[in-house]
Amino acid sequence: MTVPLRIPFFPPDLFEDDRAVLLGLLRDIGLAPEQRFILGEHTRRFEQLLKESLGAADVVACSSGTSALDLVLAALDVGPGDEVVVPAFGCAPLASSVVHLGATPVFADIRPHTMVADPAEVEKRITERTKAVMPAHIFSVMADMPQFADLARRRGVRLVEDSAVAQGAVLGGTPAGLWGEAGVFSFVQVKSFGMPGEGGVVVTRDAALGERVRMLRNHGQDGRHRFLHHVIGRNSRFDEIQAAFQIHRFGGLAGRLERRAAIAEYYTERFAPLAERGVVPPPAGRDGRCYYVYAVLAERRQELERALRERGIESHAYYPLPLPLQPAFAVFAPPGERWPHAEEAGRQALALPVYPHLTDAQVEYIADAVCACAAH
Ligand SMILES: *Cc1c(COP(=O)(O)O)cnc(C)c1O
Repeated sequence: MTVPLRIPFFPPDLFEDDRAVLLGLLRDIGLAPEQRFILGEHTRRFEQLLKESLGAADVVACSSGTSALDLVLAALDVGPGDEVVVPAFGCAPLASSVVHLGATPVFADIRPHTMVADPAEVEKRITERTKAVMPAHIFSVMADMPQFADLARRRGVRLVEDSAVAQGAVLGGTPAGLWGEAGVFSFVQVKSFGMPGEGGVVVTRDAALGERVRMLRNHGQDGRHRFLHHVIGRNSRFDEIQAAFQIHRFGGLAGRLERRAAIAEYYTERFAPLAERGVVPPPAGRDGRCYYVYAVLAERRQELERALRERGIESHAYYPLPLPLQPAFAVFAPPGERWPHAEEAGRQALALPVYPHLTDAQVEYIADAVCACAAH
């Protein structure tokens, strides 16, 4: 078996197989007589494709996953005086999307093994000011959406699903994105359906909400009357070349997701015996799972990271500092409150390469390396 010298965490050749297609689209759309570069026929077809494949009421393409969250919260009229409960462990837009609308993010701790928001912790933080709860799927695990749906119903709050990383996941028969009143996907390069640029979508099973998002993404216009602004909107439009490229790549998505899941399954099987050695893999299984990132919990993360690097394997530690401990969001962290599981995940989570074009030999090499490090 030949062993590669270096296995990157962020592979530079994600779009290599489709290079000729992309250059062709660039030329075709670039030279087309209508000179339409945003929100044209390709974007409409891409939205339709996702809508049909999901069984959603509407899919609205926009400029990023972050912008998709902003559009959803704005469409739900989240604003000053409102609170939105978000996980303490995760990416910045979970909190900043709330802050940008003048509302207050309230941070809830996560479940220690799966690292997704703990519904009991979220419920504890609901007050008469809570407008919405916004759980996020993290790494390979969907949040406990049946519990969140139940909580939202019982407590009378809106449910926004940050499904940015979980495109293609299905939990109990319902696809990620359709559990909340609205969900989002991100197409930034490294996500499972990433593309060479910025983009995202809002997905919803509520057609009226979709209509509102559609208006907000292009300066409050309805798409029929130019320069008529029904509401104060934003510029969050989608690129035609990227839309055409994503339509082309959509056919291969299921296969790429399946390859990710197969790699993850192999890792989890190999790592199951390492738990007593301080390396804990995510739970096994396929329901409610999408292997965007495969992260283990390592008691001695730095050592594992270093040992892998010495073997040419790059790993990645996401979110070392929980959101409420970030300088940007500390003002929203009640004095004295702690998020012990989020802090622990920040210290221990280590993500391994899981992209679909890893060879079996590379996958085995990575698993061998993790097992060897854990043995010492
Ligand atoms: C990536 C991501 C986003 C933001 O998506 P962008 O397209 O990068 O703006 C939001 N939420 C989660 C959980 C993400 O992983």
